[in-house]
Amino acid sequence: MKEFLRELTIQADNPGVSTGQNQWAGHGKVLESYSPVDGHCIANTQVASREDYDAVIRQAQVAFEVWRLKPAPLRGDIVRQMGQQFRQHKQALGQLVSYEMGKSLQEGLGEVQEIIDICDFAVGLSRQLYGLTMQSERPDHRMYEQWHPLGVVGIISAFNFPVAVWSWNAMIAWVCGDVCVWKPSEKTPLTGIACQNIIREVLRNNEVPEGVSCLVLGGREPGEWIASDARVALVSATGSTRMGKAVAEATGRRLGRCLLELGGNNAIIITPEADLAVAVPAIVFGAVGTAGQRCTSTRRLIVHEKIYEDLKQRLQKAYTQLRIGDPMEATHHVGPLIDQQAVDDYQAALETIKAQGGTFVIEPGTLTGSGYESGCYVRPCVAEVENHWDIVQRETFAPILYLIKYATLEEAIALQNGVPQGLSSAIFTLNMREAERFLSAAGSDCGIANVNIGTSGAEIGGAFGGEKETGGGRESGSDAWKTYMRRQTNTINFGHSLPLAQGITFEL
Ligand code: NAD
Repeated sequence: MKEFLRELTIQADNPGVSTGQNQWAGHGKVLESYSPVDGHCIANTQVASREDYDAVIRQAQVAFEVWRLKPAPLRGDIVRQMGQQFRQHKQALGQLVSYEMGKSLQEGLGEVQEIIDICDFAVGLSRQLYGLTMQSERPDHRMYEQWHPLGVVGIISAFNFPVAVWSWNAMIAWVCGDVCVWKPSEKTPLTGIACQNIIREVLRNNEVPEGVSCLVLGGREPGEWIASDARVALVSATGSTRMGKAVAEATGRRLGRCLLELGGNNAIIITPEADLAVAVPAIVFGAVGTAGQRCTSTRRLIVHEKIYEDLKQRLQKAYTQLRIGDPMEATHHVGPLIDQQAVDDYQAALETIKAQGGTFVIEPGTLTGSGYESGCYVRPCVAEVENHWDIVQRETFAPILYLIKYATLEEAIALQNGVPQGLSSAIFTLNMREAERFLSAAGSDCGIANVNIGTSGAEIGGAFGGEKETGGGRESGSDAWKTYMRRQTNTINFGHSLPLAQGITFEL
């Protein structure tokens, strides 16, 4: 057994349902977890049945009654202690993320660092859940707003950021006084169990009620239970646009609240005034990092015609240097795709690109032989295409980069915005006018717009999310916490009469 699995108390057979302190096995079907790194079966998990799920929600509801009354700074202190636990287990959890999901060890460790950072952010936030005071138009009246906890927050997460996305939601929700029920991706259940194991001791030591942190494992089904369950006050769902539409419909039917973080189709514009020495590494990392399986991965490169050939050659040179292999080895740049289905999707996309008239300037391929036994390793590739083609309009979750030529900045911005998704975008230019145009109201229509850095990756301090088919949600930093609370406007009369608003009189 690998040492990091032992440290995180991951056994061969794992329970798929848990509240913070007592853990009990799920009664659903058995889920086998395979590593895309070497194709080995890591462990089995018995997932949640509907009865298990209902028991968890009841526990969460009971816990909420107590947790919401704990002063926010004390909730923050518990989150601070969780951050300490993640510091201690950073190496082991980073290794598990890398082994279970297939991203590089550096990126696995980076994800755990994001958990630590969001814990710190949430601790500070726990003393800053500010409301406004307003001037009342009535004499001897005071008006203000306050923010109250919402209730049970359901977190549905995707495989590609198996732990960071949970923490962006959970740590903020906890300081806001909510309780969390987490359903991780069925492709990465063990990292979910590991996080629950890491925080268990903190919850126990602080006598935190069971149900503040709950875990429900399984596939689409428990996700659907969460989305349609009126006991869940907020559903925060991260994943494909297909999944987001289903969650939006289910929460909409019950007029529930949802926060959606869905697919992207992110572009970088390279103008003739770009510093290509800075741009090329940003493009390559954005396109091939996490084997193109980030929601913020660079998928389209919109390049000015004057520098198009030069940039193409630079990319060809950079791509030949890429080393593909075991992501846990620091010398490799590109790890595997998550599973065989993802490889099939990559291959199907290649066929469609060819059928639609695309040409590859860097050839694709699937790798076989020693070191590639899992069958999930593919070659990052670059294709010349047109923006309006169906395949380019879609998000293919693989390291395929599209090259598109432009003549004017207006055209480049229109191409960048001319897709259904609106997550991340970037421009590389040293020209202040071009940069400011890109950031203006007539510029990028995405939730994230960068200058001289790529589309991929984000800091926890900003609000993260995107527009259009990306779902419109914002989580993590800035004032994203407001989604996790309910706003209440309060008016207090400390006078001896009852003046009505808008000057209305009502005499008895
Ligand atoms: P996915 O949509 O297949 O699954 C995501 C989660 O939703 C899983 O936990 C899954 O079990 C659950 N689910 C699936 N169907 C559901 C339904 N009908 N109702 C409720 N839950 C359901 O996505 P994936 O393959 O795990 O992840 C890749 C996708 O996630 C990409 O599109 C990527 O861009 C997106 N993503 C977005 C962000 C973001 O912040 N915008 C971050 C990470 C990933």
